[in-house]
Amino acid sequence: MLAAGGPACDAVVAAVVALEDDPLFNAGRGAVYTAAETFEMDAALMNGADRRAGAVAGVCGPRNPILAARAVLKRGEQVLLAGEGAMAFCREAGIDFADPAWFATERRLEALRGELARRAAGAADTRDDADRHGTVGAVALDRAGNLAAATSTGGLTAKRPGRIGDTPVFGAGTWADDRCAVSCTGQGEVFIRFAAAHEIAARVRWGGHALADAAEDVIARLAPEGGSGGLIALGADGAVALPFNCDGMYRGVARGGVARTAIHREAMRESSV
Ligand code: ASP
Repeated sequence: MLAAGGPACDAVVAAVVALEDDPLFNAGRGAVYTAAETFEMDAALMNGADRRAGAVAGVCGPRNPILAARAVLKRGEQVLLAGEGAMAFCREAGIDFADPAWFATERRLEALRGELARRAAGAADTRDDADRHGTVGAVALDRAGNLAAATSTGGLTAKRPGRIGDTPVFGAGTWADDRCAVSCTGQGEVFIRFAAAHEIAARVRWGGHALADAAEDVIARLAPEGGSGGLIALGADGAVALPFNCDGMYRGVARGGVARTAIHREAMRESSV
């Protein structure tokens, strides 16, 4: 889409739709369960050029929560809709719905049962971080020089019903302006308290920091606060930063027909796109 000159906003939505449809990721199909064995999904989309933004929180119904976020952005009356009201908006907007069974995977159910048993036993959390943070996100820069960011998540395994993470909170888990676009994954409460995504944007705008320095420093500062996680960030000059403070983060960069991907701290693998 980008190679054909399409807008960044459409490209990040297309990327997130593909990831939501893939049961391997914690968003859309394959979302993690709440402690009540239900799904509550959050998604957000922000367009950098004009800062239009749309997000939904705590929804279970829209087959692709990011399309619900886009509908909120397009309507332009609200920025963040939650729960039943968000669902009513989605029905009104003609968003495609799916039954809860569409989102369900055996792997996430096992993860929920394991986590509830771990809590009941008071045992230490030994899960691999790359597995724990399956939130999906995309950032893009288009030919016109516009940036966009999209993020979608089922949240954290065994979260309290009603809990909303950083993903739909603009400036925390998702942000785009005319200088940079940021999409985060990790312990959402800490990303909200530190306004992680906007902190990076502010350092770039007002501090004149290089995007990579700002992104790496913010991620490093979240770690001692319990903010395990990472982010993907893209600057208007094409600079890319993919820092994380945990074991790994599934990540990739596509540029000039070449895709580079990595999970842990190994060198990125190249393939053509
Ligand atoms: N940031 C997400 C949340 O707190 C979860 C994650 O990225 O793993 O809801």
